[in-house]
Amino acid sequence: MRISILGIEDDRFHRPLQLIANLFFEESQVVMANDATADVEIMFSVLISEKVAVTAELKDGTNQVFASSFQKELPSVGSEKERLKVVKNAVSHVYLRVLQEFTGITQKWGILTGVRPTKLLHKKIREGIPLDTAHRQLQDDYLISDEKIQLMQQIVDRQLAVVPDLYSLRQEVSIYIGIPFCPTKCAYCTFPAYAINGKQGSVDSFLGGLHYEMRKIGAWLKEKGVKITAVYYGGGTPTSITAEEMDMLYEEMYASFPDVATIREITVEAGRPDTITPEKLDVLKKWNIDRISINPQSYTQETLKAIGRHHTVTETIDKFHMARSAGMNNINMDLIIGLPGEGVTEFTHSLAETEKLLPESLTVHTLSFKRASEMTKNKERYKVAERSEVEKMMELAQEWTASHGYVPYYLYRQKNILGNLENVGYSLPNQESIYNIMIMEEQQTIIGIGCGASSKFIDPVSGKITHFANPKDPKSYNESFEAYTDEKIKILNELFSANNSPA
Ligand code: SF4
Repeated sequence: MRISILGIEDDRFHRPLQLIANLFFEESQVVMANDATADVEIMFSVLISEKVAVTAELKDGTNQVFASSFQKELPSVGSEKERLKVVKNAVSHVYLRVLQEFTGITQKWGILTGVRPTKLLHKKIREGIPLDTAHRQLQDDYLISDEKIQLMQQIVDRQLAVVPDLYSLRQEVSIYIGIPFCPTKCAYCTFPAYAINGKQGSVDSFLGGLHYEMRKIGAWLKEKGVKITAVYYGGGTPTSITAEEMDMLYEEMYASFPDVATIREITVEAGRPDTITPEKLDVLKKWNIDRISINPQSYTQETLKAIGRHHTVTETIDKFHMARSAGMNNINMDLIIGLPGEGVTEFTHSLAETEKLLPESLTVHTLSFKRASEMTKNKERYKVAERSEVEKMMELAQEWTASHGYVPYYLYRQKNILGNLENVGYSLPNQESIYNIMIMEEQQTIIGIGCGASSKFIDPVSGKITHFANPKDPKSYNESFEAYTDEKIKILNELFSANNSPA
């Protein structure tokens, strides 16, 4: 879909208009000019006085017209940037409305295109805005539907029940540890994940670097008296390495990190069932790992084959029981809505199988076509469900979780996600992952160590976020982990210096 925008020449509007167009069309291109090849043309009129008044008229190829208008007060005092924000918001309102009318699609998240909607509600609560006013503002400013506002509120309530001190955890940090190996690479995957077979040399060097980072970061935390809230081992699949390697890694964690016994939660992703063995479960138990994730994604064998997950459905079920018998009592399972070839029938089957296991938490993802994945590069080979069927599956997940005692406790959205829906983490009460709440709500620094690990440094006073990424591939990591560790410690020193602590 090619959209020609007339009446707005300022290039700063291009990105928000393109992002909103992406909500409606799989392939879209917004052109800020008259364009004879465009499928639709949208003529804007933007009048600015003490208010901004915007009208838009969309004309399609048949000369059918869809129109909308909106006006909003401009802040009388305030920077140019703030005024521009209000103008962009007003333009987005009418743009969304004409596209909704034109396509017949209602966007339940309104003009919101960001990854973390619940953060907006947390911000308003922190500012002391009463809930009904906060909800009304979300509706007015972003056109978010009642249904999604209720979902946000439910999630925020749950998060504050699980982490009552969420707003005062900036003086602590959480740690993400990235282990970039998997048995094979899945077709939809864009994580740093390298098939492990035949790579022992690379694994050895990588683990050498990882132990080094753990020691250095751990020493810094001890020296500064900074506590760890939660630790998360992700990747890749952290259980791809051997039981002995896992044992040494956790031993390092206990030796290097401060006061491991008081860390609120330690999670290890054991996503691929084909990596789980009794020996590895013993190691997890030995080091008091609280939570693991075993990810079926689907309980339909043909789907697993089609997406390159070389394990069987039976293996997922068997490994779940094995983990239970080994004493793992907080197990998360991931399902993905909209995998190739899957519709309501297959998803209903996945929920029925989940019912036999009842993991403590269930994360329901919606398939997203990320640019770098094999699936996106060969899109024509993978047939995925229509938007309405994806929505139906999402509803089924909501109904199923509610009727089985699960509550939603975090959500995030992605670009190019099927049906413009969201990924939702559901959990039985009090089994929620604290780390997932930390990473989604950005209330404290997350130090990323290991391959492909992103650090997110949050200034304890201003809340300003600085991103920092470790190299994604093991070779670059092995060559440079010392420099990357130094860089992170430098940033940490600035953030946690004596004259940067909350009053
Ligand atoms: S198991 Fe996860 S990290 Fe590994 S290749 Fe598959 S999707 Fe990627």
